[in-house]
Amino acid sequence: MTSRRTFIQILPLAGGLALCARTAFADVPNVDPKDPQAAALGYVVDATKADKAKFTKYAAGQACGGCQLYQGKAGDAAGPCALFAGKQVSAKGWCSAYAKKA
Ligand code: SF4
Repeated sequence: MTSRRTFIQILPLAGGLALCARTAFADVPNVDPKDPQAAALGYVVDATKADKAKFTKYAAGQACGGCQLYQGKAGDAAGPCALFAGKQVSAKGWCSAYAKKA
């Protein structure tokens, strides 16, 4: 049985864990477009700046936030991408591996 006292004791701990989780996510570095892998894929932080001459498959409206490989939550400014382990990409970014979410 969970008493009110137990609940009151647990509450600060839960808040602390939530803060740690948020801090850990904030520490995830962003993908640098100049990183060799990112550059090879034509990754840009702003999809509208994609090299349309080099990557002709780019179409207006495509962005990481709508890509199957994007693992961030809807509404987040950035999130993990399956191609860049341990880093996060901009939700408004783009690369040539873009695959529209089903
Ligand atoms: Fe963005 Fe998708 Fe390219 Fe990852 S694979 S960088 S989510 S467009």
